[in-house]
Amino acid sequence: MVRVVTILLTFVSPALAEEPLQNHRTTVVITEQGRQVHRAGLLFDGHNDLAWRMRELGSPSFDVFDIRLNQPKLHTDINRLRSGHVGAQFWSVYVPADTAASGSSLLQTIQQIELIHNMVKRYPDIFEMASDADDVERIAGTGKIASMLGIEGGYSIESSLGNIQRLYDLGCRYMTLTHSTSLEWADSATDEPICGGLSEFGQDVIREMNRVGMLVDLSHVSVDCMRASLNVTEAPVIFSHSSARAITDHPRNVPDDILKMMPDNGGVVMVNFYSKFVVPTELLKTDESARGSIHDVVDHIEHVIQVAGIDHVGLGSDFDGVPRLPQQLEDVSTYPLITQELLNRGHTPASIHKLLGGNVMRILRGAEAVAARHGIQ
Ligand SMILES: [Zn+2]
Repeated sequence: MVRVVTILLTFVSPALAEEPLQNHRTTVVITEQGRQVHRAGLLFDGHNDLAWRMRELGSPSFDVFDIRLNQPKLHTDINRLRSGHVGAQFWSVYVPADTAASGSSLLQTIQQIELIHNMVKRYPDIFEMASDADDVERIAGTGKIASMLGIEGGYSIESSLGNIQRLYDLGCRYMTLTHSTSLEWADSATDEPICGGLSEFGQDVIREMNRVGMLVDLSHVSVDCMRASLNVTEAPVIFSHSSARAITDHPRNVPDDILKMMPDNGGVVMVNFYSKFVVPTELLKTDESARGSIHDVVDHIEHVIQVAGIDHVGLGSDFDGVPRLPQQLEDVSTYPLITQELLNRGHTPASIHKLLGGNVMRILRGAEAVAARHGIQ
């Protein structure tokens, strides 16, 4: 989630077929083989901000935004989820950090959780809440979209370890330790450090998340916090929506030395599609509003594969949470084009299936095994 401070920023409209791609690259055209390989895999996206976007538009209600209808103001609706063949989704239940000032972070997080639960209840033929990896597999197998929740910003627990189990029980399966600002117990990538990465309490938060089986999400945190968290966690971690810093030098992206730590931890970096995080640094220097194209996102995917390995990459679009997206990745219908471009670049269907969802499924099972060792489930 990137907070959009001005309402003047509008969401990009789908690229016209004849619009040439930036950076002299060719339009990706889906083939029958691409479609088949995509459909044969389980696509499990790490981060979708539909709930916050609806709230931002002033109508956190599916009466106003009936997503069975086409919703041009959103990146997400049912028809486009179907076209994208989304099998499972982590729905973000983000609320801003300033909710902490009024002591309402947990309450407002619960309101966002309720909004997603309402969506699942309202469209029971489309969505179902998933409790664990086996559940995801079963639900996706019936053709529905398996739904899990992701907390974004550790202030949601209001400094109480007990709230981690409470939020788990409401369907939350990961928590991003910070958002854009540093907390007393965890430093953000985009703020001054407060605790040198992770405080003692921050370590306790991670141990409690391991105990209940909630994934530790290291998107948004500082590099020191990433490193400290990797030292503490027993379970594999995720980066639910982060790209590679070697290509786009933004503090929200993951540097190579952290990517290299992924095989030991077993974790996965789920590549963010936001233009600002994927357009190469050099190009952004000359044109900071460059959108980039699907090729830039696939470059990030290939970089993570190169440095961390094929078992440690995934997709975390950030749809409905960002104001600018690359050409040919305008909304949730476009995922099959990523599969196509990976095929075009010589990746095997088995590798593609790992990054679409196989890797994050392995991590969920890893976190479940750690929780089981602690006597939960
Ligand atoms: Zn975010």
